[in-house]
Amino acid sequence: MYPTLEINVNKLKHNVKTLIKLCSEKGIDIIGVSKVFCSNPDIVSAYIDGGLKYVGDSRIENLKGISHLDVCKVLLRLPSPSNARDVVKYSDLSLNSETETIAELDKHAREQGKRHSIILMIELGDLREGVLSEDFIKTIDNISKLPNIKLAGIGTNLTCFGAIIPKPEHMHTLVKLGDILRNRYSINDLIISGGNSSGIPMVASDTMPEGINNLRLGEALVMGTDAAYKRRIDNTYDDIFILKAEVIELKYKPSYPIGEIGVDALGNVPVFKDKGIRRRAILSIGKQDVRIDSLLPLDKNIEIVGASSDHLIVDVTDSENEYGVGSVISFNAKYPAVLSLCTSKYVAKTAVK
Ligand SMILES: *Cc1c(COP(=O)(O)O)cnc(C)c1O
Repeated sequence: MYPTLEINVNKLKHNVKTLIKLCSEKGIDIIGVSKVFCSNPDIVSAYIDGGLKYVGDSRIENLKGISHLDVCKVLLRLPSPSNARDVVKYSDLSLNSETETIAELDKHAREQGKRHSIILMIELGDLREGVLSEDFIKTIDNISKLPNIKLAGIGTNLTCFGAIIPKPEHMHTLVKLGDILRNRYSINDLIISGGNSSGIPMVASDTMPEGINNLRLGEALVMGTDAAYKRRIDNTYDDIFILKAEVIELKYKPSYPIGEIGVDALGNVPVFKDKGIRRRAILSIGKQDVRIDSLLPLDKNIEIVGASSDHLIVDVTDSENEYGVGSVISFNAKYPAVLSLCTSKYVAKTAVK
């Protein structure tokens, strides 16, 4: 069945082991982030087999789908107050920044006979989620009044929105807030979660400040790159997700459209270069399924020409392979492509070894 996204679970397990080794040497525990592949259970199992004890996703529906797996489940996106019941039910730990929401979690934890753990997120400049440092004490005081909530730690998120690269100074701020919790509130064994894959350069260069004992890693595990400079991490694979799509038309056609050019199917005015007559394949996948600009053809002599919602057009003129109708063409799918492919119900997902 095509299109299909093949996931090499052995390579993924290898990346997991590499990152666990790198981080554990610095006293850092990893939450394996699974949102890019929607917490597909076969792939999450590779995380667990590789040695991860925590799995994090931004969507509670995805965590619900892995309730049968024996791993600590972390909700990464701030819970919606209206969904607090499911958050308590399907996650063991959630990241939070709003006292009202935490109060809702407390209420549902009581109803479900549980104590729900939270990590309080701190805003350090990327301007996505988190309480401002000046509101920290007030927020902790409010959380302390909730009997069914356990403050398991504090954390921050950088790079995702404002593209801010994390520096030791950011981490020092976080560690100091952790010290306040220890000294003033006698809360011990805290998780101090220094961020996502953009924290890896500090770990690799041994500049991650002491006291940071947790990172939440997605990109580093699945792509083998850090999220700050997009550099390859040593001893990792970068070809874990391979998209295979099928040729449904293969013909020689002009490379420049014939007639007056208006707007294409998705509202863009396309630009074409006239390269004469080319051999072009149409594949049965399109922009409804995948971000085509983050697909890399494995056949280096193939070029992606463009796509509409359901058709991907590639130029195979220079290829040394013999393609025909029904042939399968493979692509290395980078992070944005994996995100879209895993969300599309039209794309099969196959774990391979
Ligand atoms: C997505 C996400 C991560 C993981 O980010 P990567 O750059 O893929 O490592 C970590 N924390 C939070 C809160 C996230 O939303």
